Amino acid sequence: MKIIDICPECACPGVEININALENIIKKEKKENISLESHYFICTSPLCNISYFSNENTFTNNDLIHPIWYKDDGMNVPICYCTNLTRGEIIEAVKNGCKTIDDVQKFSKKKIITGKCESKNPIGKCCRNVFLYTMKKK
Ligand SMILES: [Zn+2]
Repeated sequence: MKIIDICPECACPGVEININALENIIKKEKKENISLESHYFICTSPLCNISYFSNENTFTNNDLIHPIWYKDDGMNVPICYCTNLTRGEIIEAVKNGCKTIDDVQKFSKKKIITGKCESKNPIGKCCRNVFLYTMKKK
């Protein structure tokens, strides 16, 4: 079971994440601040500027290569981090008649990469439900 901790900035719950996911999303120059012995948590608040934290240190949203989808509502934010499909691209595809995830992926003409969610997604989980949510939202 995932361990939950409290964000030192906003006191919202943080969910423990795989260190691989953290290493893949932190900017190169900040990577030396990752302590491999620590447990890291992702802050679940959409409003908080802390992205990840441990007992020892914190990372902000600016320390990341890609924004976390629920902390940034911009159109250039990835929804599927494996394929690097953005919110804007998904919405555009739906406007053009795409009805399924498959349709959207074909429409985007991006190289389809799957099964990397554990290390690519900011929370280490499959993007499927967020993808479907984004399609419905328009
Ligand atoms: Zn927070």
